Amino acid sequence: MQDEMLETAPHSFRWNESQLRFISCPDCHADRHVPVLKRHDRLFIVRCARCGLAFVYPQPSTEELARFYKSGYFGGNSDFHRGTDYFEQRRKGIEAGALTGAALLANLDLTGLRVVEIGAADGALLAWCKSRGAAEAIGIEFTEEAAAWGRARYGLRMICSALDENAFPAGSVDLVIAIDLIEHLQNPKSFMAACAKWLVSGGRLAILCPNGSAISFWGKRWIGVQENMEHLTYLTRRQFVRWAKEFQFVLERHSYEGCPLRRAQYRSAGSRTHRILHEPHKAAYNTMIKLLTAVMPASSRHQQEMILRRL
Ligand SMILES: [Zn+2]
Repeated sequence: MQDEMLETAPHSFRWNESQLRFISCPDCHADRHVPVLKRHDRLFIVRCARCGLAFVYPQPSTEELARFYKSGYFGGNSDFHRGTDYFEQRRKGIEAGALTGAALLANLDLTGLRVVEIGAADGALLAWCKSRGAAEAIGIEFTEEAAAWGRARYGLRMICSALDENAFPAGSVDLVIAIDLIEHLQNPKSFMAACAKWLVSGGRLAILCPNGSAISFWGKRWIGVQENMEHLTYLTRRQFVRWAKEFQFVLERHSYEGCPLRRAQYRSAGSRTHRILHEPHKAAYNTMIKLLTAVMPASSRHQQEMILRRL
């Protein structure tokens, strides 16, 4: 397939160059790595020569990232939910069970559980957990606007702060939820360590994040590297298996999902038939994408979700 055939997002996003840091591997701290590809923001994704972790290099500083998240992350100024009334949309999703992450938790009995969500946004998923019987639901959210919504709308305990391993006493949590979170962290390994500490024996960690293996299949064509320039690592199942072993978890469930390639957006509204008739080239393109991704292994899909159980 030719690159020019592929739909790509228009991109002009750049980090402040004086705020870029040349880091060592966030997992094993080795300094040797090999380039994998260059993103739209001109930063590289590299793979650690020792442990294989794929991470962004150089990386925006902590201050630069804070500035990014404070400047209307949920308000439509970034790739993330551009131009939508995100919180209101999620509020409607609670009853419909249509929230991101709800499907991952649907098979768990939440009755009486002490649930914590890191990167809880507006708290909608926590509100859903409460409606499913969770005894306690606490959110940690970096953006005050989102945390305030969760307090006001759902009466949740929302802590507005960065990730802090001392946020909860050891063995005091039954379920930690991390939806679209871990790829944003400068130190994902310390997050795994913190979860292992907070959780009771038998407690669970639910993670949903992009599937780093998709890079090997699609390279620059993967939507995961075309959008969300704030993502700092590209984690694979193999990485989670390693961390599970290191921090005494069992990978109880793991699956891949989602289309890894950008589909053509129809300009015309109306029924499916109407759109196909008016923009047949886009319909053909989307069919090709569907067929192509259908014949590829599951590990080429866009994202992964998993449940890890603390031993
Ligand atoms: Zn490494």
